[in-house]
Amino acid sequence: MPLHVFSDDAMLLHEPGPGHPERPGRLVAARRGMDGLDVAWHRPTPAPREALEAVHDPDYVAQLLALDGRTALLDPDTVTSDGSIRAALLAAGAAIGAVDTALSGQPAFALVRPPGHHAERGAAMGFCLLDNIAIAAEHARKTVERVLIVDWDVHAGNGTAHLFERRRDVLVFDTHQSPFYPGTGHAHEVGAEDGLGFTVNVPLPAGMDDGDYAHAFAALLDPIAEQFRPELVLVSAGYDAHTDDPLGEMDVTDEGFAVLAGHARRIADRYASGRLACVLEGGYDLDALAASVRATSQVLLGAAPPAVRGPSREGIAAVRRVIEAQKPYWRF
Ligand SMILES: [Zn+2]
Repeated sequence: MPLHVFSDDAMLLHEPGPGHPERPGRLVAARRGMDGLDVAWHRPTPAPREALEAVHDPDYVAQLLALDGRTALLDPDTVTSDGSIRAALLAAGAAIGAVDTALSGQPAFALVRPPGHHAERGAAMGFCLLDNIAIAAEHARKTVERVLIVDWDVHAGNGTAHLFERRRDVLVFDTHQSPFYPGTGHAHEVGAEDGLGFTVNVPLPAGMDDGDYAHAFAALLDPIAEQFRPELVLVSAGYDAHTDDPLGEMDVTDEGFAVLAGHARRIADRYASGRLACVLEGGYDLDALAASVRATSQVLLGAAPPAVRGPSREGIAAVRRVIEAQKPYWRF
């Protein structure tokens, strides 16, 4: 079974400007990571407006669509160029395409830009215009009851977390560097109202490595997934926790991402009939991005992830703090 990859050259035409880390070459690098793998390439269709409005404020969607072909500064880090709105619609459409493929039981990866997980209901933020994975998760809810979103990008996915924080049908599990941009994602942020316990934030100190991340996934994600029993697993696959990344300050290697992908894969196989899709988020060192996308994809294609050594004392302590915050809701 090939890995189904959704991407489009028009996503190269989102140009935030000289020196901006979220640059077109990222997409080229991510695709290079697929070289020689058993991949079926798909060109996405732009996400329909109703799919955007199922997640974002209709006024914000209208504001974005009106920027098609125009340059605008939406946030100190987030700008549009002529091609940005088309790129954003294709990115969200690619995430939807990947989800539809995953729902048919075949693994998929949406290689997209701009990324999505910082975009709020009514605002662009942190290089993100539309919350691609949230749009895709909401789309999936027409078919399945429970969706697990795993966000291993080095930044907290504030947009995705806020969009689902009052809901128990979409569980968001998010590892991230803390303290760090965007400042959200503390362990005590566990969701609200009906969604209490269905937001799992795993703030980690800088310098965590493969063993620490593997420990967080084994000690927290695996038991929660066993109790939540997702029918679809989605990954906000950012690669800025890589040791070579210029923005993140973590020490994860390509092999570490293979280990994390292995957790997602096993959860999907055990509870979700193999339904698994990844959506690219951050990752700003081109070679690290290519190698990490490749390592993830190899696991999606069935390769066994490597073994890692144990966690550090700091990693163990960070996981303990999350267990304290989450133990009213889950058994560990
Ligand atoms: Zn990031």
